[in-house]
Amino acid sequence: MIDEKLPTRNENFSEWYNQVILRAEMADYAPVRGCMVVRPYGWSLWENIQQALDRRFKATGHVNAAFPLFIPMSFMEKEKAHVEGFSPELAVVTIGGGQKLEEPLVVRPTSETVIGYMYSKWIKSYRDLPVLINQWGNVVRWELRTRLFLRTLEFYWQEGHTAHATAEEAQAETLQMMNTYADFAINDAAVPVIPGRKSQAEKFAGAQNSYTIEAMMGDTRALQAGTSHNLGQNFARAFEIQYLDAQNTQQYCWTTSWGLSTRFIGAIIMTHGDDQGLVMPPKLAPIQVVIVPIFRTDAEKELVMPVVERVKRELGDFRTRVDDRTEVTPGFKFNDWELRGVPLRIEIGPKDVEKGSVAIARRDIPGKPGKSFIPQEGLASQVAATLSEIQANLLEKARKFRDDHIFDPNDFDEFTEVIQRGWAFSWWCGDGACEAQIKEKTKATTRCIPLDQPGGSGRCIHCGQPAAEKAYFAKAY
Ligand SMILES: [Zn+2]
Repeated sequence: MIDEKLPTRNENFSEWYNQVILRAEMADYAPVRGCMVVRPYGWSLWENIQQALDRRFKATGHVNAAFPLFIPMSFMEKEKAHVEGFSPELAVVTIGGGQKLEEPLVVRPTSETVIGYMYSKWIKSYRDLPVLINQWGNVVRWELRTRLFLRTLEFYWQEGHTAHATAEEAQAETLQMMNTYADFAINDAAVPVIPGRKSQAEKFAGAQNSYTIEAMMGDTRALQAGTSHNLGQNFARAFEIQYLDAQNTQQYCWTTSWGLSTRFIGAIIMTHGDDQGLVMPPKLAPIQVVIVPIFRTDAEKELVMPVVERVKRELGDFRTRVDDRTEVTPGFKFNDWELRGVPLRIEIGPKDVEKGSVAIARRDIPGKPGKSFIPQEGLASQVAATLSEIQANLLEKARKFRDDHIFDPNDFDEFTEVIQRGWAFSWWCGDGACEAQIKEKTKATTRCIPLDQPGGSGRCIHCGQPAAEKAYFAKAY
């Protein structure tokens, strides 16, 4: 299978996606259906995502902790909408240590309930607020139709859980984290997401309001890439998360939760990838620069390798790999690193040694146009500048692709047509029944209602009722 050509994105986007992941050794299928193994190259990307987010969480006052994998079944049942939303997806443990358990344990699908329980013990007074805790971990949701990274039974993520004294603070936190995700996606992953509010039908089970960052994939379908929920007092009431205010009166807290998962890796693959394979954004790339030495004879090797070693040392600030495999040709190596999406390749051969130069090839500009020769002198600053250019170019390309595929249809016929090849940005009445009909007729869902509205008002694209807001509609992953 590996010798066969990678399907192009136009031929079969879904098969292209699977093959790229398997061939680039990002992930593999696990023995349990719907589970995945994240291989070292994929995990290394996830670690870089973690660092980029964790830095932002800490900068906004959050701390990390770890809560248990098992949750008493009764906890899930305390918040009505929450249990209704999650019960079809729950994995439940009924036997432990060979004994039937008195109470079944749920393998966490998300941790609002157990964290709510703990917060009710920890929070006594307004002086204890706000509580701003994040955890990095894994969760299980028994999905029936699974895809590597996009939807798997078990996945990795972070979940932030905060408790506040006022509704205003909780809302500010919810928006702050949506904006934090957007900042990460745009500036580190070069994924030009659109932040906004979810419709009531699409919100998180148990939330008052959910906010999202929505990304357009290379086949124009939408991907929900991170979410932030204002839980109001729903979980505070269910778990009695209360505090004494300054007047000595008992009050319920206002809580939020927010999460971004390994699904984001799917977003990176489907935003930037091309027919040669992955294209990693330099800021997150597991390997930013690969150096390929080129020699035919031992004499040439002796000439080339010391320069390769010196260049690698000089590029110490970058994530650099030297591909010194001898059993494969340079041409094979070029294809291999292109498949894995390494942003920049440096080739060093005997002629380069002689001239004091190296050849560099940019992954974002395939073939000759992306190749140039530069002096070894001052290479590190040249590499830094080129990586920045690649980062900016990827964002620009993705933004152009997105904007070229967002339409403003004049009527519902046109809406139905454009939804086959992109997103619609349309006036919408906000009614759930109208939304359900749109979904039934076109398979498109409301992706988000951006906070940034054009102003004015219009008529709903579907039912013609007065509409105060415009929403993005698309088929989604
Ligand atoms: Zn309507």
